[in-house]
Amino acid sequence: MGPVGLVASPRETRTSPLVRPLPPNSNTGSFIMNRTEHLLSCLAEECCEVGQRVSKALRFGLSEVQAGQPLTNADRIVEELGDLWGVALMLADEGVLPPAQLWPTGHQQDAKRAKIEKFMAISREQGVLS
Ligand SMILES: [Mg+2]
Repeated sequence: MGPVGLVASPRETRTSPLVRPLPPNSNTGSFIMNRTEHLLSCLAEECCEVGQRVSKALRFGLSEVQAGQPLTNADRIVEELGDLWGVALMLADEGVLPPAQLWPTGHQQDAKRAKIEKFMAISREQGVLS
């Protein structure tokens, strides 16, 4: 079996300057990330964890408390959003993400709300939203 991790296809290495050669790792043969890549991986992971918690809330309810821990599904969504925000702030602290643009402006928030309301109206018209 080949190395585990991200491997650029020959086509990508020829055409994309964004794909860098894979440095060797004698321990695992894996792709070796730099700090930025690791943090970006953490950010993606936290996004998935938010999605997982939202999915659980949809399946079992926002107020359900899963056995073995004290938090409701709503609490756990907030917890994961905090984790996501924490990683985003680390990326901003390190100059990877623009800190001034992390939090949406009032205009961006208004635009997003309007867009969601527009598509909710379509969903209602289609009979798939109460
Ligand atoms: Mg998390």
